[in-house]
Amino acid sequence: MCCDLKRRFLLLYATQKGQAKAIAEEIEQQAGAHGLEADMHCMSEMDKYNLEAEKDPVVIVISTTGTGDPPDTARKLVKKIQDKTLPPDHFAHLQYGLLGLGDSEYTFFCNGGKTVDRRLQELGAQRFYGTGLADDCVGLELVVDPWIDGLWLALKEAFLLQKEKGGMSASAVTNSLSSVPCEHKPDLTSKIQQLKLEEEGVRSSNVLSQKLIDVNLVTPAQDTEPSLVHSVPPISQSALNVPALPPEYIEVQFQDTRGEDPGLASLISEGAVFEVPVTKAVQLTREDAIKTVLLIELDISGTTFDYQPGDSFCVICPNNANEVEELLHVLGLSEKGEHFVCVKVKQGTKKKGAAHPQHIPERSTLKFILTWCLEIRAIPKKAFLRALVECTSDAGEKRRLQELCSRQGASDYTRFIREPNVCLLDLLRAFPSCRPSLNLLIEHLPKLQPRSYSVSSSNLFQPGKMCFVFSIVEFPAYPTRAVSWRGVCTGWLAELVGPLLHANKNSQDAKGGSPLTEKIPIFARPSCTFHLPADPSVPLMMVGPGTGISPFIGFLQHRQKLREERKDWGFGETWLFFGCRHQDRDYLFKQLRCFLESGTLTHLKVCFSRDLPAAEVTPPKYVQDMVRLYAKEVARILLKEGGYFYVCGDKKHMADGVSDAVVDILSAEMGADRLEAMKVLATLREAKRYLQDVWS
Ligand code: FAD
Repeated sequence: MCCDLKRRFLLLYATQKGQAKAIAEEIEQQAGAHGLEADMHCMSEMDKYNLEAEKDPVVIVISTTGTGDPPDTARKLVKKIQDKTLPPDHFAHLQYGLLGLGDSEYTFFCNGGKTVDRRLQELGAQRFYGTGLADDCVGLELVVDPWIDGLWLALKEAFLLQKEKGGMSASAVTNSLSSVPCEHKPDLTSKIQQLKLEEEGVRSSNVLSQKLIDVNLVTPAQDTEPSLVHSVPPISQSALNVPALPPEYIEVQFQDTRGEDPGLASLISEGAVFEVPVTKAVQLTREDAIKTVLLIELDISGTTFDYQPGDSFCVICPNNANEVEELLHVLGLSEKGEHFVCVKVKQGTKKKGAAHPQHIPERSTLKFILTWCLEIRAIPKKAFLRALVECTSDAGEKRRLQELCSRQGASDYTRFIREPNVCLLDLLRAFPSCRPSLNLLIEHLPKLQPRSYSVSSSNLFQPGKMCFVFSIVEFPAYPTRAVSWRGVCTGWLAELVGPLLHANKNSQDAKGGSPLTEKIPIFARPSCTFHLPADPSVPLMMVGPGTGISPFIGFLQHRQKLREERKDWGFGETWLFFGCRHQDRDYLFKQLRCFLESGTLTHLKVCFSRDLPAAEVTPPKYVQDMVRLYAKEVARILLKEGGYFYVCGDKKHMADGVSDAVVDILSAEMGADRLEAMKVLATLREAKRYLQDVWS
């Protein structure tokens, strides 16, 4: 039996938004065609694998959170392998290949993968294949696809090596690996002639991992400019390698409309959800500012929710109601919105390890699923496009979808789907004969992620209240999308607090009207490190342009209150570097002056990047320029006085610019080269004295 010849490898994934899992599933699926068997597990399922005793090669796919941490599902394993008492040969028996996923918009690119990779190396494990680091910023597939392509040969060599060590003859292994069942051996040239699009659905459920598609079946289009729906030569005339059709594994049954939807607490895996009222909303920017920034105050007094300044928390947000309605309409399910849907794993599905998606309740209404559970704006992955081909009746549309998910269409995918952030609704508008079933959406759309926000208040200063500050994310209209969009969460929040903002404008004060009846679901996401120093006498510097100032308002409120209450305590000097575009449009917290006047803030340094300088000498434009201006103080506080340096903000370029400035300052001050200064900065980071809270 061919299956007996299949060689096993352990495949571990740790996923934050579902991408690492989807990639692991792709590897698992392709493995069969290479005569291999992937024993796939989520990294958190530590009872299902044992690295200490693992003899087979291990393939790891691991993503990274925005803060550079490994995903929650990797935490237990990472903690375990970081145990300093483990000997350097702890994993000497282990052969592994690692694919890290990240986003270079963030400072700690692929840090989750890098951390695991580094630690495995330190513990003696051997790489059988070069580590891949894929960047979501430019398209994960640019690294992921070639990495998976090369994996099979590397695994084959790893098995050979393993057998040589274990005594079995190398040729026996080669034979077993080349004994790929005949249906797995794609005779690609002949397939070009054979395949007909109409037959494709039937055939593609076979195990071919790649397939070439006849190009002559679709009438050549007349336009010369390629677009989402239209291709030009060479791709319009190419034979295509498309991914294997992912096996369906979800079954949905519509029921009646009786019953209640599950609570929002069922949407998170741990911790409690609090639904809290909004007591205040203030627009911090002027109407003519480029970005609109809002402050929202929540009443947490009736709850057990607790926080410290510097913490973040998560908002559980719904999808835009109009988009949900439109989706229901396009799917032909408008009548079913209020019906309960029972979601189950399909009996006899070919998908290995098929499990009920954790973010979908077993029974809830269709509207609940589309509103709270699925990221309907997610950029469809190639596997999803491949599945959509099967639900498209028009031959031209079918062909274009095939092109977009094919290897030959990689740059079209980037240009027409990834870069313009095309979502499912955009696709369904552009390909009107495409009518996917609900189970396909559940299988392919990722979980709607809660959004994180930094707390911008102190519970000492404002007991029972918690504030946060955010800029409304705005996306301009695009050829494939006629209307402009707001971010899922910030758009929803802005609409929700609209009446309060309106009341503020009319009453000319910023106190707000009566609290809204609608509540915001939140849960805690405490920071381990981004807190005020335990010793208040230690000096600190804070750098927070734009909304990056948010946590520092909490710090300052906290310090202010402590200074009032603890007259006998000594407080270290406190610096704040703030920057924005225009002094009169987006200087978010003009009341910073009050902290300055009370002595809570000892130095406030502000710069405006777009205001024309009034003086002859050009003032610093950005916070990093300002930091350079105070080089002596920065060096003194960091090198001589054991001080803390905090950076918070929404752009990689800012955080990198600031750390570059600090490296230059340290290097000049120590009379050492940049490398030496970088080492000192790394030590400061390790000692948790140089702290960042950066998002994009
Ligand atoms: P989304 O709907 O998620 O849209 C943003 C995404 O859309 C982008 O990631 C991008 O991939 C995509 N996109 C880009 N261009 C387009 C386009 N043209 N069309 C469609 N989609 C596009 N933010 C704050 O404002 N204040 C804070 O204090 C804050 N603190 C944070 C703390 C942490 C620890 C983290 C991780 C993030 C923090 N953020 C903060 C960011 C915040 O969590 C959200 O990401 C942000 O508010 C946007 O959410 P949204 O749902 O409105 O946007």
